[in-house]
Amino acid sequence: MPDRPDIVQITATASIKKDMHGNRAKCLQRLVRLDLPVPLSVALSFDTVRRLAQGYVPDMCALSAIFEKGDLLSVRSSSEAPDWGGPGTVLNIGMNDAVAARIAEQHGQSAADQLYLSFIRAYAVDVLRLDEDLFADPITPRIALAHFEDEMEEPFPQDVETQLTEVLRSMARAWEGTSARLLRQAKGAPADAGLGLVVQRMALSIGKEETGAGVLQFVSTDTGEPQITGRYLPQSQGRAALSEVDAQFIETDPRGTALEDRCPDQVAALRDAGHLIRTRLREEMQIEFTLMEGRLAILDAVRVPRSARADVRIAVDLAEDGVIPREEALMRIAPFTLNQMMHRQLDPEAPRDVLTRGIAAAPGAATGKLVFTAAAAQAASSQNEPCILVRRETSPEDIRGMHAAEGILTERGGMTSHAAVIARGLGVPCVSGATDLQLDHRKKTLTVPGRRVFHEGDIITIDGSSGQVLVGAVRMIEPDMSGAFATLLKWADAARDIGIRANADTPEDARLAQTFGVDGIGLCRTEHMFFDPIRLTVMREMIFTEDPEDRKAALERLLPMQRGDFIELFKLMQGQPVCIRLFDPPLHEFLPGDRDGIRALAEALDLPVSRVAARIEALQEFNPMLGMRGVRLGITVPGIYDMQARAIFEATVAASEGGDPVVPEIMIPLVSAKREVELIKDRVDAVAAAVRNETGVNFTYRLGVMVETPRAALRAGEIAEHAAFLSFGTNDLTQMTYGLSRDDAGRFMSAYVNQGVYPEDPFQRLDRDGVGELLLLGSARGRAARPGITLSICGEHGGDPDSIAFSRSAGFDYVSCSPFRVPVAKLAAAQLSIADI
Ligand code: PEP
Ligand code: MG
Repeated sequence: MPDRPDIVQITATASIKKDMHGNRAKCLQRLVRLDLPVPLSVALSFDTVRRLAQGYVPDMCALSAIFEKGDLLSVRSSSEAPDWGGPGTVLNIGMNDAVAARIAEQHGQSAADQLYLSFIRAYAVDVLRLDEDLFADPITPRIALAHFEDEMEEPFPQDVETQLTEVLRSMARAWEGTSARLLRQAKGAPADAGLGLVVQRMALSIGKEETGAGVLQFVSTDTGEPQITGRYLPQSQGRAALSEVDAQFIETDPRGTALEDRCPDQVAALRDAGHLIRTRLREEMQIEFTLMEGRLAILDAVRVPRSARADVRIAVDLAEDGVIPREEALMRIAPFTLNQMMHRQLDPEAPRDVLTRGIAAAPGAATGKLVFTAAAAQAASSQNEPCILVRRETSPEDIRGMHAAEGILTERGGMTSHAAVIARGLGVPCVSGATDLQLDHRKKTLTVPGRRVFHEGDIITIDGSSGQVLVGAVRMIEPDMSGAFATLLKWADAARDIGIRANADTPEDARLAQTFGVDGIGLCRTEHMFFDPIRLTVMREMIFTEDPEDRKAALERLLPMQRGDFIELFKLMQGQPVCIRLFDPPLHEFLPGDRDGIRALAEALDLPVSRVAARIEALQEFNPMLGMRGVRLGITVPGIYDMQARAIFEATVAASEGGDPVVPEIMIPLVSAKREVELIKDRVDAVAAAVRNETGVNFTYRLGVMVETPRAALRAGEIAEHAAFLSFGTNDLTQMTYGLSRDDAGRFMSAYVNQGVYPEDPFQRLDRDGVGELLLLGSARGRAARPGITLSICGEHGGDPDSIAFSRSAGFDYVSCSPFRVPVAKLAAAQLSIADI
């Protein structure tokens, strides 16, 4: 039969296209081109299948004429991308009384009954949607045929054309069903994605000598390591071997004979075929095969199903074996896949009881007993008891508890609230903004309306990758960052053309960032260096005191601590740039929030509780996020920035001794006016001059501005006159551009995203239209005033692939993100430069 565009026999030269006939049809053609023993197969195009669903019947006579009379046929779905799914395979089309009689004669009644029954069932239940129970075991073909006739009021069709038409039509309609449509769209399929179908002559795989069916792959699904995995079941069809416990292994079976023991030549042929398929299809494939009286047939090959870890290992191995170029290996891995390798993950196969959902604020999963205070978290950790710290929201006082906890769960907050930012920095899984939760701190209970009450000590699990909060412990998969993961990152480094720095606040963070390999530190939030209880107290003393002498004394105590931190940071980063942001504490984050905290502070300051409470009252702001933060604090209480500048410069001198000179970067936060920069610059320059004088050592430094307010973006031109670099703080810039609180947006964000008000949470993915426009404006004005000025983003968006794409196309020099987001950022950056978009 000549090829028709709607029904095409899959030969080496036929015109089979993935976007017309689907992935499976194309793959089968490749196997045919490799001269592998593929049974006669025919592809039906997307268009034919679409029309089938609408009632059109293709030329069945022409179709069945391609096969021989008496052939049994299978139909498989062939969507454009393998993971878009499709209706399940139907086998044994063509079974009827006559064929059953023939098989009974040749292979015995039981083989004939087995085949006939399995087809009647599939046809009745899967194709015509009759009640499954009618065809349940024990049953014989004769009874099944009688049930069929009762239900349908007509006999079971005996001609292959009718059977095939109904099978094709039902598969075409199943593809159009709502749930199938939603499922594939969730996997990225377009609304009008088509389905192709493949009709294939079946090898009977029931009969004399060595006859049966199996499935085989050459790598492990879990790890991607080379390893023959597969099963073979004599006298079976399709993928039955995979679900049958007695199925044989392909090679060496400790339980008895393996296929290779009996059929070494066929297994050798399968190995050769596997090698050929891997090399020519450039992918690890799972092969479905049959043996028919010893003769091998390869029915199908699909991409090996794989975990994240296996995905990376397979791509790297293919590249190392020269099968694909490194660039292609990099392009094959979705960046977020790497997240799954860096953190513990819930085992996708594990049963789960989801209690509620919040925002997936820091990736990874954790199980532990519920605790309600940071102190309880520390106590649990000192007993080696994993715990989940639950808070309404977190504050600096909680930091040690957050460190001690396996996971953090908050009722309030969003992607850039305190809990989320700190958790990502610490690498601790976090779910924030779980607004369904009702916390009772006094009774130490956690309730979700309609569900039971949880008490301190009850076990829960959180999944910071999906935002789920689950009851009890859930089975996990352990992280793995060695081997192929490290190799892939090395290749990503070679391919990318935008810098990746880390946001690292402490030497521990910097050490962690170094393990991922970074181009420097893009943001050191110095206030985070004061979360240690002793330092926190001095810091609070400094904030609390109204007496300039006391403040000076507190700052003098802070100076050596800061200097020590910076020396360590500079040494750790070994000449790479380190960008230190001057203090930017939203003051409320440093004030104790409850009675216990106030009492502890009163003790530490040796003041009456009432005085401390009154001072807290006086420092309260209606809008701390828009209050005395950042440069405003620096200008109002200049001693703080003076102390920090001194600590930075003294550390510069110390860390440069005997090595390459350190060139620190100092960044001014929350700027909105040029004059702010001038005032701070004058003071910092003066401190630098003083330190040069005192030490007799010359050094340079770079002063830059953090663009976090819309006004700073708009006035970037004049601000750039005094700034060697501009770093866009997109967390605050998003907050201020939208007028959207970082800490409260979680309450309505999902409603907004679900209703399409925002396409995405703008704290997670940079809003290209609004915030993005400010970035472009600011960078253009900055560049115009100061050509060659260094530009970057250092908000949480620095770790988001889409935001990295934006930054790269805007010509930024680097992005900076939490250490744990660096691998994803690197891979995303590499993909952008390979695709050059
Ligand atoms: C920002 O605002 O984007 C930023 C990086 O600073 P922070 O998150 O500390 O406010
Ligand atoms: Mg900020």
